[in-house]
Amino acid sequence: MINFTRKRTQMPEQNAELRRTSFTESQTGYTEEMAICEAMRCLKCREHPCMTRGCPVHNHIPAFIDCICEGRFEDAYNILRKTTCLPAVCGRVCPHEEQCEGNCVRGIKGDSVSIGALERFVADWHREHCTDNVDHEIEKNGRRVAVIGAGPAGLAAAGDLATLGYDVTIFEKTDVIGGVLAYGIPEFRLPKAIVSNEIRKLQDRKVNFELGKTLGADFSLDDLQGNMGFDAVFLGIGAGVAQTMDIPGEDLNDCYLAQDFLNTVNLRQNSELQFPKYRRIAIVGGGNVAMDACRSAVRTGAEKVMIVYRRSETEMPAYEGEINEARAEGVEFVFLTRPTEVLGTDGRVTGLKCLKTKLGEDDSRGYRKPVDIPGTEHVIEADCVIMAVGNGSDADLVEKCGLKCDRKGRIEVDPVTCETSRRGVYAGGDAVTGPLTVISAMGAGRRAAVAIHNRLSED
Ligand code: SF4
Ligand code: SF4
Repeated sequence: MINFTRKRTQMPEQNAELRRTSFTESQTGYTEEMAICEAMRCLKCREHPCMTRGCPVHNHIPAFIDCICEGRFEDAYNILRKTTCLPAVCGRVCPHEEQCEGNCVRGIKGDSVSIGALERFVADWHREHCTDNVDHEIEKNGRRVAVIGAGPAGLAAAGDLATLGYDVTIFEKTDVIGGVLAYGIPEFRLPKAIVSNEIRKLQDRKVNFELGKTLGADFSLDDLQGNMGFDAVFLGIGAGVAQTMDIPGEDLNDCYLAQDFLNTVNLRQNSELQFPKYRRIAIVGGGNVAMDACRSAVRTGAEKVMIVYRRSETEMPAYEGEINEARAEGVEFVFLTRPTEVLGTDGRVTGLKCLKTKLGEDDSRGYRKPVDIPGTEHVIEADCVIMAVGNGSDADLVEKCGLKCDRKGRIEVDPVTCETSRRGVYAGGDAVTGPLTVISAMGAGRRAAVAIHNRLSED
């Protein structure tokens, strides 16, 4: 008889008071004993929905967990590496509760197995105990693939194609490999050393990186498929164009786009040039980027950090765990409030003018629309405002490339092969779906790699 009431093994973490002042990783990971104890909770289900329905890259979850049960951690790692090139990253930043763990049979009557924490344990254990390169010498097949963008989709596609023997070059417009992983996710959720280590393993697969090279400026799709001699192109260009609220005052000095704020805080963390210390920071938005921004804002030493969101907590798109962490770290939540202007004096922010809202009818996506309540104008005092109201695709670039896209500028692709309207050019990740998760982008990159391989094997 299975004991469904057996609780999951909690990952140790710093207490909230310590977390407020530190950018070091909040959760410290399982010990070997904890990992084995948690792995033993897996039922090794025949259907394993955690893997088939829950994991976008189809990690063989029961198999790697089984290895952990037997203390065969390196074998567990080798199983994971067959389907993911970033296990230490996914184990940390995947929305497990919605994906693998959300489909775990154990979760029906109790706590699901902590699959993400186990994946993280295996990747960390391997990094600490194994120095050898697990990838054997790969024989090249003479075909060349260009990957545009060194974010999760591009890295996953490149990793799989390189393993299949393709000569892969990643073109990245910035001078940093990793995209959102490198500087967009705060250190306390994803340490940069972890990202660098995963990227080094990709470089071991002899993937070439061309940094500071921009599609549409330095070269075109015609160049790539013509004189540059690539047999196929994968576009993993993300959805990095930050949206604004289009309200007065967004151009003031202390009003930031969330992505710029997160990049700056991440880059300056260990430098002498610290991010300015503000007293009261208001973050506008209710998604996961808003959570990263507010938790980072707390760590910059602000006295008060507020989330200002136009709907109620129920409609917040951020993951529950992130909301709880933010709250525990002292972030205040101001719901049903819509900013109408960023106020300032002499170019500096002094406050956020807002209206109270109430929830009205459902909109086209099924979310209840916030409706302004007349006469409720008020000012939230703040000396810094951070806009975390979403990101969109680079519609100009997509148009320049002559690719078919929808009205939001998202590239249209064949849902199975990821091929765009231009033969030989594939796309995946946020540029196609709009902002989703790291692992969804990786899943698309891997699907495109298979399709590219199938096509080029036929030619
Ligand atoms: Fe779960 Fe993400 Fe790992 Fe898949 S990659 S098993 S979704 S944590
Ligand atoms: Fe194990 Fe849960 Fe997957 Fe079943 S669904 S194999 S219990 S992780």
